[in-house]
Amino acid sequence: MRPARRFVPDRRSPRLARTRVGDRTELFTETVGSPPPVYGERWAEAGGRTFRSFEPGRSKLSAAIVHDWTGPVPSEGERWLYLGAASGTTASHVADLLGPDGELYAVERSPRPFARLLTLAERWPTIVPLLADARQPRDYAGWVPPVRGLYVDVAQPDQVEIVRRNAELFLDDAGAGIAVALKTSSMGRERDAAGHLAAAEQALASVFDLAPSVRLDPFHKGHYMLGGRARPALFGAGAVRPAPASPGRRLARPRR
Ligand code: SAM
Repeated sequence: MRPARRFVPDRRSPRLARTRVGDRTELFTETVGSPPPVYGERWAEAGGRTFRSFEPGRSKLSAAIVHDWTGPVPSEGERWLYLGAASGTTASHVADLLGPDGELYAVERSPRPFARLLTLAERWPTIVPLLADARQPRDYAGWVPPVRGLYVDVAQPDQVEIVRRNAELFLDDAGAGIAVALKTSSMGRERDAAGHLAAAEQALASVFDLAPSVRLDPFHKGHYMLGGRARPALFGAGAVRPAPASPGRRLARPRR
């Protein structure tokens, strides 16, 4: 019989764990969902807990953590907003990290992946799927309460502007976090990848204390993880914030 694996909690998030497989270290998240696997990831039991492998080749957040990302990572009990959730590969892991008392509002604008996200949310009860355009945050402002973190992976030329608009509307306070998977090849040819990263950092640095960005190669070519913590200036004069969403206006299921 194979000896039970030892899962060691990662300092960045209590539900993120590391384990040794041969001479390699692999990342896992403790699941809040139920089988089957979402994208072929491995499931493992240890000490009465169920973990799922968090594959850096499939998730930019995992790749960033493998590259020692020191920026915000979703943590137990928090509420996050996710823009560009697609069918939920990374969103399922973000929900795992937020745990059973957390909530993940997951925005996706394409109907096909959204249909799969809806199905996934039946097995991941803390995911609230929203079919919406992240460029129009007011369209879903009535459904999303203030959040502690914003994860963005929309692969659009104006992704930094999308971040800024959503951060202003939804981040709950100074210190709230953003993590942005920046796809530089979607941002035009007038700059190279490093130039796009520098421009994005400059655009966000006035209202965020940024962590060092990390490059996601070889897992995701031409991508960086960029992000940090909101400064009070983000919520200063000119930032128009909606009233908090009322619980009666939730789109999906009520909180358990
Ligand atoms: N984050 C996903 C993951 O790791 O599992 C992959 C996301 S994929 C790179 C980008 C997604 O963003 C696509 O599903 C696309 O439909 C969505 N998207 C692009 N522009 C969007 C927008 N303006 N609003 C909402 N979703 C958008």
